[in-house]
Amino acid sequence: MSKILDSFLNENLQDLRNQGLYNEIDAVEGANGPIITINGKQLINLSSNNYLGLATNEELKQVAKNAIDRYGVGAGAVRTINGTMDLHVKLEEKLAEFKGTEAAISYQSGFNCNMAAISAVMDKNDAILSDQLNHASIIDGCRLSKAKIIAYNHSDMDDLRAKAKEATESGLYNKVMVITDGVFSMDGDIAKLPEIVEIAKEYDLITYVDDAHGSGVTGKGKGTVKHFGLEKEIDFQIGTLSKAIGVVGGYVAGKKNLIDWLKVRSRPFLFSTAVTPGDVAAITHALQMIMDSTELHDQLWENGDYLKAGLKKLGFNIGASETPITPCIIGDEKLTQTFSRRLVEEGVYAKAIVFPTVPKGTGRVRNMPIASHTKEMLDDALAIYEKVGKELGII
Ligand code: PMP
Repeated sequence: MSKILDSFLNENLQDLRNQGLYNEIDAVEGANGPIITINGKQLINLSSNNYLGLATNEELKQVAKNAIDRYGVGAGAVRTINGTMDLHVKLEEKLAEFKGTEAAISYQSGFNCNMAAISAVMDKNDAILSDQLNHASIIDGCRLSKAKIIAYNHSDMDDLRAKAKEATESGLYNKVMVITDGVFSMDGDIAKLPEIVEIAKEYDLITYVDDAHGSGVTGKGKGTVKHFGLEKEIDFQIGTLSKAIGVVGGYVAGKKNLIDWLKVRSRPFLFSTAVTPGDVAAITHALQMIMDSTELHDQLWENGDYLKAGLKKLGFNIGASETPITPCIIGDEKLTQTFSRRLVEEGVYAKAIVFPTVPKGTGRVRNMPIASHTKEMLDDALAIYEKVGKELGII
């Protein structure tokens, strides 16, 4: 290794460790369900995005196995060469139905989707108004486009309106886009989409909603845009297939001309191999399950409300959550890490989230109950929270 790289890595890694900002990665031994095993120990899992429990759903496992038997394990090529199977076409029809749009396009991940979609439409002559707390993949997608990035204060509609007015009236930009998460993953709050749409109409902004944490969760499972009835108003409805949907992948749903453009101009679609057949079949089936029944969705919300009420009663600061995602905001990074480590020792897997994922000084342990947790599991988790919270003087 080059000496300069070696010393760069060693110094910076040590620096992160000293500040309590280095996250160790644990390996889960077996499936990612409501209970997981790490280092041989069973833990109540409050750290997954498997909101509806579909990642371990028996029906979906069987669907994936059948598709592998028929189609094999890989798509074989990028989509435009010969990697588009009839399975991918069905998936995209199902995604459009799920999101209430004319068409949809799928990608290999949600991250990839943001890298693909923003830069296919925006360029250096454009501007993007981006919520300050937007996900890293949105930020990177914006950077890749070379458009001017104008951050507005989190969910602050006065700030957005002022910046939209300034950007559109400046005459500096051809197109202006507004981008927001549908559900903010670190706080569990919901974007103010009706106000965003109103401002977008006033200034002819392109609207882009990344509903990675909303699909399957809000809008009776159909997501945050549906929750507000704005399917006809949002230009880009994007999301991931790896969280509530339980598998892997990302998508854009929108008007047919937008999807046609992305098929010829978005680089991860053009130059990277498609999602595997087993995954595609499982995703398509999962979307149908979510459209057919709200049972898992209802169970998720019941569990979310139960855990949230319990944590609040114990005296934790749960912030502004409006969804099952419930943070316990601790503040200090080292205390947050210690809290999370003690929770693991006592039997709860709830990870510390610290800078750079959240701003410095707002370290938190984030809890994500899922549909397949039982009341007993949640009661056990709350008892552990009480014990460790008192021990560390947090409550
Ligand atoms: N967008 C948001 C808002 C996310 O939270 C995430 C996942 N953390 C992604 C995109 C990336 O999705 P994926 O895991 O499918 O790459």
